[in-house]
Amino acid sequence: MKFQIHDMDGWARTGTLSVNGKSLLSPCIFLGHSFKRGNPLPWHYFNVDSLLINAYDLLVQKIDVTRVRQILDFDGVLMMDSGGYQIQRLQKDIDLETIIQIQEASKPDIAIPLDYPLTPKMDNKEVHSRIMKTFRNNIHWRESYPYESIPVIHGYNEKHLIDQMNNLDTPDFLAIGSFVPILMYSDRKRLVDLLITVRKKYPDTFIHFFGVSYLVAFLLFLLGADSVDTSAHLHNARYGSIHLQHTGPRAIAINTKKRKRPSVHKLIEKEKFLNESCGCPICHYLEFDHLKARGVRGLQLRGIHNAWVYTSAPAELRQIIEEKKATLFIEKIFSQSGLYYLYKYAKRNYLT
Ligand SMILES: [Zn+2]
Repeated sequence: MKFQIHDMDGWARTGTLSVNGKSLLSPCIFLGHSFKRGNPLPWHYFNVDSLLINAYDLLVQKIDVTRVRQILDFDGVLMMDSGGYQIQRLQKDIDLETIIQIQEASKPDIAIPLDYPLTPKMDNKEVHSRIMKTFRNNIHWRESYPYESIPVIHGYNEKHLIDQMNNLDTPDFLAIGSFVPILMYSDRKRLVDLLITVRKKYPDTFIHFFGVSYLVAFLLFLLGADSVDTSAHLHNARYGSIHLQHTGPRAIAINTKKRKRPSVHKLIEKEKFLNESCGCPICHYLEFDHLKARGVRGLQLRGIHNAWVYTSAPAELRQIIEEKKATLFIEKIFSQSGLYYLYKYAKRNYLT
């Protein structure tokens, strides 16, 4: 694995990650995918460079692990994490050897060790214990996993992060979990500070952040993150929401089965949506009202549209970084959003 930086624009940068004989341009977004029935496969409709799946999902959905690539019919860069979040949420106890075997048999390009995410409710003792377990698994993977594996760290305060970073040799690729989901919920300004701390510590390392929403991805890229992953395109599609370029999700449909209430998002302005003339294959071939469809069809149409919006963002941003216009571009996006104060904080402290 090798990461080569091409252009810098403040903290933002473009580069190429070479992994397993493949090249991935950065910044980039790994689309999250679950094998749950009904989920769309957007890469069958347009180019998707990178995908994130998880080992626990393969186990639950009883996927033939030796045929993961064929089942997905995907030839881009495939990252697989353990599914630590799902395992924790469902309070399952999964043996680390089970995760290693799944990864070994399905051969993703990037394998993430079994990790133990943190939540704000945990006390210090539990946080410390989970950080140590993740740390031991990083070592176990390095020693036992037959292909290349990537260290993952978790933490949402400076001490946690620095302690963990001090235990690592400088990696080519570093994955960071818990950080964005927790800090977006609790202390957003610190998210900005800590991201810069990580970037200063590892100026040449490719840095990935787990679990990031669409707008926050732009801010992270501006501050030097190289990749993020998201399943929000699917999640929002499931609950009846779609994305416009450079905007948070908007509600379009009422979900049927599990949730009786409409999406929590603001309602879409149809005129505004049509004015943007989305170039995705769904909007190209179908009338707007199809995006309101219920059931699996609605999930798929919205999921493919949302994936298009998500995957177009990094390509656009790479161009803008090369032109050294990233700050202005992102300021424009955030000035329309409730997170403008966060952008202004970042600009005041790190971008001038
Ligand atoms: Zn579309």
